[in-house]
Amino acid sequence: MVDLPQKSADLIEWYLAVVEAANLTDKRYGIKGMNIWTPYGFAARRNLDRIMVREIEATGSRAVEFPLLIPANEFAKEKEHIKGFDAQVFWVTKGGLTDLDIPLVLRPTSETAMYPVFATWVRSHRDLPLNVYQIVNVFRYETKTTRPFIRVREIHFFEEHTCQADEAAATDRVRSNLEAFRRMAEAFALPYLALRRPEWDKFPGAYYTVALDTPVGGAHTLQLGSVHHYRDNFSGPYGIRYETADGSSRLVHQTTFGLSERLLGAIVAVHGDAKGVVFPTAIAPYEVVIVPIPGTGTGEAPRSVAAEILTRLRAAGRRAHLDDGDERPGAKYYRWELQGAPLRLEVGRREAESRTAMAVDRLGQKGPVSLAALESEVAERLARFDRTLAERALASFRDAFAPARTLADLRGSTSVRTIAWCGREACGHEVESAIDGALLGTPEEIPPFLTGEPGPCVACGSTEGSRWAFAGQPL
Ligand SMILES: [Zn+2]
Repeated sequence: MVDLPQKSADLIEWYLAVVEAANLTDKRYGIKGMNIWTPYGFAARRNLDRIMVREIEATGSRAVEFPLLIPANEFAKEKEHIKGFDAQVFWVTKGGLTDLDIPLVLRPTSETAMYPVFATWVRSHRDLPLNVYQIVNVFRYETKTTRPFIRVREIHFFEEHTCQADEAAATDRVRSNLEAFRRMAEAFALPYLALRRPEWDKFPGAYYTVALDTPVGGAHTLQLGSVHHYRDNFSGPYGIRYETADGSSRLVHQTTFGLSERLLGAIVAVHGDAKGVVFPTAIAPYEVVIVPIPGTGTGEAPRSVAAEILTRLRAAGRRAHLDDGDERPGAKYYRWELQGAPLRLEVGRREAESRTAMAVDRLGQKGPVSLAALESEVAERLARFDRTLAERALASFRDAFAPARTLADLRGSTSVRTIAWCGREACGHEVESAIDGALLGTPEEIPPFLTGEPGPCVACGSTEGSRWAFAGQPL
């Protein structure tokens, strides 16, 4: 048994303890911030990837895979980008015993790997749009404290890169990405905000950045991913041009969409509770765990019914697992609750005799299922579990925000703050120092809980150009 710290008392301590106790990752590798994916964590990650792939391919994007290493001269072509990533890259400077003529960078993101090649792929308006994505590992030399899934040096990364005919088409691609993310987040049961980052916090080289943030307790937020509009900021230096229908030559406009293993961190942080991880069904390594309770003098009946349930659920396409070990049933219940399995089916003597199983979901909803209608009753119970989980997450999302009308309100915040902001950078920095965090940005769409006019700027009191914004402490 593991004693988990209280989530509400210290979110980070709780998070670190849960991730470790649930065996999602092993931190005992010899490089800080490079962790091992355990079989259980890897299975969850694979489910995450599957949903990302499903939703991005539904928008016409195709998978590619580019090499890990980027030549230094290509890496340095876009000035803002190189400035933004300079301090974060790992270098390869030797091949065997020989110093390389051109040092190589381990990709921290793949703009500079892909765009010289895009310049050869895109020739005519008929080659557009070019929408491709890859799921690969990227490397960033983090100097801050690393945390599993949330801040690591080797990152499991999803990146879409696109080329569009013009600025408007690129704006449409940003919208399509945000829509794809909305569908992904539904599967993860994660409520979030799509926020346009302030100028000083956008992606290096971007025209603008829309970040996807979720509150994770107190004033803390977690960035789940981001979508960027590049205009022609990269296509210029990399020479990605096309010939229009009337024969003139134009630069493409580009977008990117980035997500990462951080989504797994968010699922743990948002849904987890005093008992441990709570996986939405779509992400759970095992959707259903079957626990036979042989008892004494009951013969093999519970075991054989449990085995039948396993066979049938697997045949129905469920990720089902039979926990047939020697541990006491109570210890198994405890462990599967810690590891976040959505549904447990217990089979004792009474259940075996009546051809039923006792179903207990991870949120404590309980009742018998009949073997006669096993597949459909399990499906119903999982659907009900997912609905309850989504409602619970939405309720805490709604409670996560509180308005701040003055800078004094922001000091010592225990909520993510909704504020009015005039849009000026100086006021933004005053907000950031008052909350000891970040001005997260302005909402792409006004969420329903923000009603009326934003009112005067929280920092300078001006109503001119005033807009809604959010401020918090990113993890
Ligand atoms: Zn102001």
